[in-house]
Amino acid sequence: MTVALLLPFAKRLSDGLLVTPEEVPRGLACKCICPGCENPVQARQGTEKVWHFAHTKAEACAGAYEISVHELAKQLIRERKELLLPALEVVVSARGASGENLIEQEVVFESRFVRLDDCKVGQRLDEITPDISGSRKGRRILVEVTVFHRLMPEKRQRLIDTGLASFEIDLGIFKTRQASRDLVEEAVFRQAGNRRWIYHPRMTDVEAALRARLEKRLEESRIAWEQTEDKRKAQEAEWLKNREALAVRGDIIPSQFRIHSPIRETALQPVSEIGWKASFPAPERWQPARKAFCVRHALPVTQVDDVMNNISKRSHLATTNPVELSTQWSEALGVSSLEIIRYFREAGYTQDYDVDL
Ligand SMILES: [Zn+2]
Repeated sequence: MTVALLLPFAKRLSDGLLVTPEEVPRGLACKCICPGCENPVQARQGTEKVWHFAHTKAEACAGAYEISVHELAKQLIRERKELLLPALEVVVSARGASGENLIEQEVVFESRFVRLDDCKVGQRLDEITPDISGSRKGRRILVEVTVFHRLMPEKRQRLIDTGLASFEIDLGIFKTRQASRDLVEEAVFRQAGNRRWIYHPRMTDVEAALRARLEKRLEESRIAWEQTEDKRKAQEAEWLKNREALAVRGDIIPSQFRIHSPIRETALQPVSEIGWKASFPAPERWQPARKAFCVRHALPVTQVDDVMNNISKRSHLATTNPVELSTQWSEALGVSSLEIIRYFREAGYTQDYDVDL
């Protein structure tokens, strides 16, 4: 449902001020003109609708409502010589090396009310005519009031270029809400949430300090990421080396072996379990395999026996599994766990498994 917005304020011919229908005689006796097209308007003080002004000639005057709200806001500030300043908060953010969002922010000051020493409306300053040009203790503050339309980028830029403090009051609430003098006054002087700084001289320094802090955190994030990455690459290289070493000897490499975690030391784990054979292998089977193992890794037989002789029966195998045992022996003998698994197979401890190279 669209709201029929009625002209709430008109310009009184006698003093050029915007007035409400309550402040003037009814009908044409109000002696007011439209602040948009400057044609005469009459004050409607009926009972059906909120009191308002209407053009005497029934011509469409599209901008009248917006202009009247905009002009009244300026007039109120000029009359009261007061401003509710927006809070000044500076926020900078960036994405860290691992995609995390890094934010630095500082509230320089909270919203506050100030009295102006001087306040001019529509005063030209070099390249720009701000809605309000106020001064306080020798410092200028510029104010832009918007109602239906956003502040144009080029005007925003010209305000920034002045190097003076400037802020915007957004009265967009009156796009859908019938304006009255009380509501406009409330929005202009008592609502801090509808305004923000376009530029403030302190922004630059604060932003530079926050950026420096952010840069430091970005650098830390980058270093942390690189360390993780180096670790991951080293483990990947180690794994590839093991795999190639076995492949060169014509061994079978189960493709189920994957790198699960880039960090953990126990990166090599079979996806599917390798099971022990149902019976303990005969000495004719495991003895030559063990000898070959010692030769292959240049390890003294006594050292290997010390480690491997803790498994001498089928019942010993039942308390562990090939992956667990290969990890233990790998640590004890300084040989990769893949090599231990190879020994299990050659010595006849494990079931043959499907190989997919
Ligand atoms: Zn008009």
